[in-house]
Amino acid sequence: MITTNSTFSETLLKNIEEFRNLPVEAIIKQDVLRRGLNFSEDALKIVSGYKPKDYFIFTFDLVELKEMKNQENLKAPEEIRIKNGDFRLLPTTISVRINPESPYLVTLCEGKITLTLDKMNLGEVEYHPVPDYYRHEKINGKPIGEICPVIEWGYLLYLTAYRMCQYFDGKEQCQFCDLNTNFIQQRKAGRTYTGIKSIEEILEALNYVNEFDTTAKAYTLTGGSVVTDLQGESEVDFYLKYAEAINNKFPNRWISKAVVQAWTFEDCQKLKNAGVEIYHPNYEVWGKEMFAKICPGKERLIGFENWIERVVRASEVFGAENVIPNFVGGVEMNKQTGFQNIDEAISSTTEGLEFFMSKGIVPRFTTWCPEPLAALGHQESAPLEYFCKLLLAWKNTFEKYKLPSPKGYGEAGIGKAVFSVSAFMDVIGFKEIRN
Ligand code: SF4
Repeated sequence: MITTNSTFSETLLKNIEEFRNLPVEAIIKQDVLRRGLNFSEDALKIVSGYKPKDYFIFTFDLVELKEMKNQENLKAPEEIRIKNGDFRLLPTTISVRINPESPYLVTLCEGKITLTLDKMNLGEVEYHPVPDYYRHEKINGKPIGEICPVIEWGYLLYLTAYRMCQYFDGKEQCQFCDLNTNFIQQRKAGRTYTGIKSIEEILEALNYVNEFDTTAKAYTLTGGSVVTDLQGESEVDFYLKYAEAINNKFPNRWISKAVVQAWTFEDCQKLKNAGVEIYHPNYEVWGKEMFAKICPGKERLIGFENWIERVVRASEVFGAENVIPNFVGGVEMNKQTGFQNIDEAISSTTEGLEFFMSKGIVPRFTTWCPEPLAALGHQESAPLEYFCKLLLAWKNTFEKYKLPSPKGYGEAGIGKAVFSVSAFMDVIGFKEIRN
């Protein structure tokens, strides 16, 4: 047993001790995601061979760019992979959320990049590799990583076609979301950041991927919501034309996924006909009251009951196993409008898991990151105990209904999972009770 005096490591060790039916890798991953990562100057001086954060959609940072004194926004890797260390961890892939105040420090120890928490060594660190296709031409004068970034250790191409969301116009954006405010700060900081990516840019970038890459197995087409119209088109028409163009040019080259709103049955059919295989109509948070507080725009335009009914109907189009709505794990514990009590939050969220999983639909979750430029603002994330209980609730419900591992997420299980923004893929198949 490793002992320490710090409250940060004490909290981690207490949860590792208490949740023996979860892999240590998953518990550490959730804690790193909720607290963010601090990088020493040395750890940011590694000059080549890794892919820095592309800011593929939101910031997923716990501070604004202007507070990054060491240019972490330009130098920190997209993801880290840790292994060995005091807990002899299997390789664990974790998305990088910058937080210079985080107790989790990536630093050089005896010449090796290492993740530390107080006096604990949590393992050697690798940085997200640069895919071969990144070495090729610019697209329209823009880095290829701006048009077609890759995440999940090279597995997932992330195509944010529209980097703004019209819910911000009426101040009815999802309260955890910093899409538009991030766009503004990135432009201000001088990053090449494209409001609306053209189909031609995307196809040109995908040509390079097609030619030079063998790692990516899936792509996600997404962007902000269209409330009125975008360049004269509805949300459905806007995103359909990208799906059609990509799947016509590269049929079956990658698993095709789309994150858009909960569309009608007929519009889902159009999306399926355009070649999209996996549909992500993200409900973000469970429960009518909480949904209205967290997603006021979606509540006004579509409404909670209608949203979840559309998710269920979409399974007639895509097949239940291909409808994978996301929720933002932990946002239901936010300080302003959330539950005060961990078990109440878990019980509400589990109701949603039961609702969907009993119908063969597998919701997945990302770990809430309280981004300072989101409406909820800077605050502490939900406690680690909450995330351990959430992982167990997700896993138990998933096993109860004997559901298949979600398609389009790569391999499941500790040591293999590449999904980097929560540990739900890491816990699949974990059967042990640790000593
Ligand atoms: S729908 Fe919500 S989460 Fe999605 S981009 Fe708009 S505000 Fe953000």
